[in-house]
Amino acid sequence: MKLEIVTSARLTCPNCGYMETVEMPTNACQHFYRCEACGNIMKPKPGDCCVFCSYADVKCPPKQLEEQGTGTQSLSQA
Ligand SMILES: [Zn+2]
Repeated sequence: MKLEIVTSARLTCPNCGYMETVEMPTNACQHFYRCEACGNIMKPKPGDCCVFCSYADVKCPPKQLEEQGTGTQSLSQA
């Protein structure tokens, strides 16, 4: 079975609206991201696990796996 995991996300800064395409780490959640344009440090909203879940157009890889029903499997298995 092939899993379709999107690792490239379009992150929108909540402070200035600047959009940036960011590669997501597949083995960890990214909790902070600094906006290239205004220097604002993005943090996850309450209940979200990482900045991608809060501000990007796609969820982070672990969440994507969860939605595909393989939530207990780890992506970091090499
Ligand atoms: Zn910004």
